[in-house]
Amino acid sequence: SYRKGGYHAVRVGDPFAAGRYIAQRKLGWGHFSTVWLAYDTQTSKYVALKIQKSAEQFAEAALHEIEVLLSITNADPSNSKCVVRLIDHFKHSGPNGQHLCMVLEFLGDSLLRLIRYRRYKGLELNKVKEICKCVLIALDYLHRELGIIHTDLKPENILLISTINPAKDPIKSALTPILKRPEGGTLNGKPAMNIVEKRLKRTARRASMGRETDLEPEKCMDGIDLRCKVVDFGNACWADKPFAEEIQTRQYRAPEVILVSGYSFPADMWSFACTAFELATGDMMFAPKGGKGFSEDEDHLALMMELLGKMPKKIAIGGARSKDYFDRHGDLKRIRRLKLRPVHRVLVDKYKFSESDAREFVGFLSPLLDFAPEKRPTAQQCLQHPWLNLNSSHQKEMNVQSNIDVRMGNLKIN
Ligand code: ADP
Ligand code: MG
Repeated sequence: SYRKGGYHAVRVGDPFAAGRYIAQRKLGWGHFSTVWLAYDTQTSKYVALKIQKSAEQFAEAALHEIEVLLSITNADPSNSKCVVRLIDHFKHSGPNGQHLCMVLEFLGDSLLRLIRYRRYKGLELNKVKEICKCVLIALDYLHRELGIIHTDLKPENILLISTINPAKDPIKSALTPILKRPEGGTLNGKPAMNIVEKRLKRTARRASMGRETDLEPEKCMDGIDLRCKVVDFGNACWADKPFAEEIQTRQYRAPEVILVSGYSFPADMWSFACTAFELATGDMMFAPKGGKGFSEDEDHLALMMELLGKMPKKIAIGGARSKDYFDRHGDLKRIRRLKLRPVHRVLVDKYKFSESDAREFVGFLSPLLDFAPEKRPTAQQCLQHPWLNLNSSHQKEMNVQSNIDVRMGNLKIN
């Protein structure tokens, strides 16, 4: 992918936007871009630099993302809506072409990393609630105030707010005096930029050897105010001009998207419910696989009905693709026998929730998983739900459970 039209290769210390931003280390990547931690010499702050692949279709996608991000950032001057902010954008020319670059506020690890870090055991319910509140604030803002559908909500696209404090960071104290010199300045007779680069490389090397204390997801879990922001607006669209028929990452895809019966804001609410379940249990709510004689879509619909009950016939046969999956009675054509396992039972039996925790969580989740999109509560309505403000007892049980797991050398004993 590092060829003409593809990614831009970045080295630690590379300057961007006429030297305003200096690349420090790679934070992540997607199909369209690589994302780097960069130091903003103008504000002395860390930023995330998203560098898009250069080919025309990627540039077009980036322009769209910038347009969405600009409206999101401009309509939230107080920065209280739990969505990532766009700080700047520019073009950068390299050997593989011209790359659109977005400068975003620097955030921490994704919730996916947090789930992995917890070895897929799930987070304490009180933490899940804090995260849910943030995500709902973001969705309410996007949906009600801007008319935007995110279309790709999932743990990977929700980032914790970074706890790195640049003022306490050794890299900054090394950099500041050098960068304050005029362009081309020298330090001990050598070009300043070379020294900056050397120091940055050393820091990066230490980090890769594990000596530098890198941001551990666990650190973000200290204290109770756990906050996060929604990112990745590359696929977002205005509800009045949806442009893709197929949206969302497979496991978080709403039934109306699979059946092609038209989607809007409630599709995000479905993904939100799948995300909340995954945070609480460590497992994806739906992980469909194709098999002998049935497709991934059909398995997905079957899993939904096993967990949530049968899809009303009117909905099952009402989509443009319904005939591919359902017969005229509203039964799946190729998966005939469904094993019913209500969410409540799964939470209690498989994930060891107490009866009351399971009942309360299901009370919050199941309206969001209504097969009829128009019946799902809005983000605004969810924010009023008592579950978000109830204290859960699950926390204690989880701790006991993980202690046992540690003593048993991570052997599963249940
Ligand atoms: P793509 O559209 O190519 O999927 P994303 O916007 O999802 O790109 O970014 C790719 C990855 O880069 C993310 O999964 C995350 O790890 C990291 N990342 C993105 N934005 C930020 C940010 N603001 N702060 C820190 N890391 C980020
Ligand atoms: Mg992404």
